[in-house]
Order: sequence, then structure tokens, then C-alpha cells
Amino acid sequence: MGESKIVHSALVTYTSMISLLTLCPPFVILLWYTMVHADGSVLKTYEYLRQHGLQGFKNIWPTPSPIAWKIIACFGAFEAFLQLALPGKRVEGPVSPSGNIPVYKANGLQAYAVTLISYLSLWWFGIFDPAIVYDHLGEIYAALVVGSFVFCIFLYIKGHLAPSSSDSGSSGNVIFDFYWGMELYPRIGKNFDIKVFTNCRFGMMSWAVLSVTYCIKQYELYGRVADSMLVNTVLMLVYITKFFWWEAGYWCTMDIAHDRAGFYICWGCLVWVPSVYTSHGMYLVNHPVNLGTLLALFILVVGLLCIYINYDCDRQRQEFRRTNGRCLVWGKAPSKIVASYQTTSGETKTSLLLTSGWWGLSRHFHYVPEILAAFCWTVPALFNHILPYFYVLFLTILLFDRAKRDDDRCSSKYGKYWKMYCDKVPYRIIPGIY
Ligand code: NDP
Repeated sequence: MGESKIVHSALVTYTSMISLLTLCPPFVILLWYTMVHADGSVLKTYEYLRQHGLQGFKNIWPTPSPIAWKIIACFGAFEAFLQLALPGKRVEGPVSPSGNIPVYKANGLQAYAVTLISYLSLWWFGIFDPAIVYDHLGEIYAALVVGSFVFCIFLYIKGHLAPSSSDSGSSGNVIFDFYWGMELYPRIGKNFDIKVFTNCRFGMMSWAVLSVTYCIKQYELYGRVADSMLVNTVLMLVYITKFFWWEAGYWCTMDIAHDRAGFYICWGCLVWVPSVYTSHGMYLVNHPVNLGTLLALFILVVGLLCIYINYDCDRQRQEFRRTNGRCLVWGKAPSKIVASYQTTSGETKTSLLLTSGWWGLSRHFHYVPEILAAFCWTVPALFNHILPYFYVLFLTILLFDRAKRDDDRCSSKYGKYWKMYCDKVPYRIIPGIY
């Protein structure tokens, strides 16, 4: 079914895969260098590279230091421990393409609270200064670039030798298997879910921890935290809190239910999220812009509204699916399509597609507030440089591509039922425009 089409279209983008594999690591380092050492100016970095050539680039690339490895190891081990040890409700994920139902322990919010409280306590009681993390950021990214690559090789080998479930397999192409992944739900033992660790407990958690780190660093440098930094951090922390509040819902999304564990998703969450997703905060550390109370509050309120709408879109879909359509959407009985499809084992199953509420405005309306929220937590950096906006640009491209990928996948999964949905809700993302 849909899976073979995904495999085919991904093989067609072979060149882009190779480009991403080779260009992402240097980009992460250059982004860090520009934000921290070149005032956020692409021009300055470009001038430096033009003058010093390849040797200059080598000089920029930090060596993964022992302290960087220690920070990563302590953080990773702490998060793995919390994932395994904290109590949580048993939650079932969606039926996989092979008909399996993965089971999870929903303890993300507890892990998030314990992490932030522990981190702030370490700082408050003078046991560990988070500014050290900022001071060694380049070495940490350099270590993550290498360590995560090795981790993806491990995933590739595990997928071949010891897959955790029947939701696994090779496309026959080594690079594609490494890039896209072999397993949908790789686990260590029965309970340690690798994608929950890489995507949620390492990637998303590091985003929160680094945001707090940047605030503390600015405070140590200037004796205060500028309102621009506060707006940036509060919005991101609200967004990440929402993420962990709704983590079990995330386990039903494309990242977990459809994307296999390979370089694309795992390297992305282990390296790209802690670097690119926090890059505007990295910039703000040395640029304590003062927005003034009114403007700061305005950006904060608009950002919060966007985060709420994004959350409500996800909640509406999940509530609708959870209650089998027996819920109210915007105060009314939902309008829906009962779509049947076949699993890879040939079983016929049905899913409900919501065609009212947010999901009746466009087929991926939830991406609109997602992008606007990202803009709101970036705009405190003002407009002196383009680079702080890299995350917003990247997110826009990612989500437009994702909407297309999802449409293609759903179309081959649901066939005529998806067409009925497209006829009823013709716009893909922006109502009336696209
Ligand atoms: P979702 O998984 O939430 O939605 C897509 C899936 O939902 C489809 O594959 C389909 O799955 C099902 N579906 C589609 N249409 C309907 C419908 N009308 N009614 C019911 N079910 C439907 O998408 P994402 O994973 O992309 O997004 C989840 C959240 O993550 C969003 O808030 C998004 O903004 C955010 N996100 C953030 C990113 C970031 O980097 N900051 C990146 C990506 C997402 P099925 O096969 O079950 O039918």
C-alpha cells in the first residue's frame, strides 16, 4: 500500500538525501559559529571563509571535548532513566502498517518537570552553572554531529539484525535505509522505545533546557534578562510544555507512526532540534534587545494564541478519533468520512476522517499557527539579521513538504475516501489560497 509509494518517491529524491547527509553537519556548526561568534551576520562568516578558505573552516569546527561528551552523556542518561523509571499511564499507539499496536508509558510531562526543576536547582544551589553549556556549545554540537551519526549506524545494523517488530524492512538500497531508517518502532528490550527517546526525551527536552540555558547565560553576562529573551523563552517553554502535555498524542503523528527510525528523523531530533530550533535564542544571548512592555506583551499574547490554536487542532483530531466521532466539534456533531483501507497483511480496517472544525478549513490547517508561533518567538530578535529567521523558513519548507507527503500517503492509503475529503476540503494548508 502507501509504503511502497513512499519508498519509490524517496528513491527519486536520492540526490537530495545525499545533500542532506553531507550538508547538515557543517551547516549546524556554521550556524552556531555565526550566532555566537559572528554577531548573527551571515556576511561576516562569509567574509571570514572567503579570506581563510578551507583552513578557516577547519579552524571554526570545534573538537568534541571531554566536557562536551560528559554533558551529553549525563543529559542522555538522565533522560533515559526518567523515561524508564517514572510512572505513567499505559497508552496504545495507532495500528501500524503491519497491524501492530505499540504500547507506551506516558510519563513525558513528569520527565519534563523533573528535568527543568533539577536543572534550575543545580544552578540555584551552585552545583552546576548552565552557562558552561553555552560556553561549550560548539563542542557539544560537534560531539552530537558525530555521536548521532554513529547512533544512526547502530539503528541501521539493528534494523537488519535484530528488528523489534514486523514493522521493519529494507528497501534494498543502503543509503536509503540509512537515511530513512529500517524500523518503525525500534526498542531496546521491551520497554525502551528509541524514537520516544530521540524525538521527545532528547530532542524536545534539549530544546527546553537550552532555552533556559540561554536566559541564564544572558543574566550572567548582563545582570538581567532582556524582555526580548523573556518573550522568546516563555513562548518556547509554553510550546514545549504543550508538547509534553500532549506527548501521547504525538505518538499518533507522522513522526512516530509513519517515519522510520533513521538519519532523517533521529539525527534530526538529536542534532538539528537542539541547534537549529534554539538558534534564535543563541543569537539573543549577546543581543539583549529591549522591546518595551507593550510590544513584548503584544508578541507574547499573539504567540500564545497561535500555540493554543495549534494545540486545539491536534486535540480536536485526537478527541474525534478517540471517541469514534462521538464528540462535539465547535459545539456541533462533527461531519466525517468513514474511510476504509487495507493493512500490509491484507486486513481491512476503517478510520474516521474529520471534515469539520479546524480540519474543515484546510487539510493541514494546524501548520499555519505552528509557523506563526515560531515567527512570534523569533521576532524579538528584530530584523538586523536574517539568520535568526532560519528556523521559521526551515519550518515553513518542512511543513509544506510534510503536507504534500502526508496527502500522498493518505491518498494511497484511503484512495477514493481521501478524494472525497479533498473534494469537500479543497485547500491543503492556507484556506482559500493553497
Ligand atoms: P498529524 O499526524 O497530526 O496529522 C496527519 C495524520 O492525521 C494523517 O497522516 C492521518 O493519519 C490523520 N488525518 C489526516 N487528516 C485527518 C482528518 N481529517 N481527520 C482525522 N485524521 C486525519 O500531522 P503532523 O505529525 O504533521 O503534526 C502533528 C503536530 O506536530 C502539529 O501540531 C504540527 O504542527 C507539529 N509539527 C511540528 C514540527 C516542528 O518541527 N516544529 C514538525 C512537524 C509537525 P491516519 O493514517 O491515522 O489517518
